[in-house]
Amino acid sequence: MWLLNGFLTRNKCAACYKQFNKKEHLVEHMRISYHSVHEPMCGICGKRCRSFESLREHLIGPLPKAECERVFRDRGCTFCLNILSSPHALRFHQDRCQLSRGNNGVLHRFANLRIHDGLRIENEKTRVVALACKMVGGGSDGSLDLCARICVIDEYENILFHSYVKPQLPVTNYRYESTGIRPEYLRDAMPIRHVQRKIQDFLCNGEPIWKIRPRSGKARILVGHGLDHDMKCLELEDTSKYPPLMKTSKLSNSLKYLTKAYLGYDIQNGIQDPYDDCVATMRLYRRMRYQAHRIEDYPLATDPQNKNNFTSWRQGELERMSPDELFAISRSDYYCWCLDSKDVA
Ligand SMILES: [Zn+2]
Ligand SMILES: [Zn+2]
Ligand SMILES: [Zn+2]
Ligand SMILES: [Zn+2]
Repeated sequence: MWLLNGFLTRNKCAACYKQFNKKEHLVEHMRISYHSVHEPMCGICGKRCRSFESLREHLIGPLPKAECERVFRDRGCTFCLNILSSPHALRFHQDRCQLSRGNNGVLHRFANLRIHDGLRIENEKTRVVALACKMVGGGSDGSLDLCARICVIDEYENILFHSYVKPQLPVTNYRYESTGIRPEYLRDAMPIRHVQRKIQDFLCNGEPIWKIRPRSGKARILVGHGLDHDMKCLELEDTSKYPPLMKTSKLSNSLKYLTKAYLGYDIQNGIQDPYDDCVATMRLYRRMRYQAHRIEDYPLATDPQNKNNFTSWRQGELERMSPDELFAISRSDYYCWCLDSKDVA
């Protein structure tokens, strides 16, 4: 029996627990998997998952691992997916882990206040900002997205900037049921070019755009959901995605879904307020930033120090390593937000 077990675990990935018939296949798997301590981990069996969604499936189903599911049902938090020490500790934890929407009155507060412009370059305390847009329709069939409302908040959910935006193209569908935007709101609104420049300047924070490197220097960190899309409308450069929050298929989940699943409340019912999107985005960011992951000197596979982790070793040497040793030299292929907490602190 011991021999059999030894044989079965010899070629088992130390991160995702996948079994391989041959060691060379495990080595090949490790080369392309970029397993790391930053991947979401089951608090019961220690398995690493590519995304929180696959961890959720592992714990809750549709096809959960029976033993993990049993423990999770007893003392696992359905929002952050952490395991607590007892059912009592779980109840105490979940009261704080589940958030509520809060600041419900924002839409009304801003109904008559068209512009709120707190973007000031000397605002040194604000290192991380969240941005969200609401789109109206342009083009003959109204399907072209045009940014008509924008909101930027700081880490503490304070509004730094809020404005209706006058698009460059004529609006053919105001999408009133979800945007709540009326023609008169946009008539004298800030032109999109002006907004772009303002936000770009704020994000650069005095650093010339060609000098900006990701997450270093004075430039601010921008978080958002579906930023690719918003950024395109604003023609801004920076985008950020967080792979652990995306589905394994690489299709990202909607902000509405993520907010419900990971923060425990509803957004985007009826008329949507970009402030709510900003708050949800920032809360997701903060939750991910405070994940307790082991600190490594060079956490990314792309760090020059790690470039040779799998290439400099000869195949034979890699095949002689244990699964744990192979995992130990493997590094993440995405930037984990927990690394932000390190350089802020
Ligand atoms: Zn694996
Ligand atoms: Zn991390
Ligand atoms: Zn598990
Ligand atoms: Zn929790």
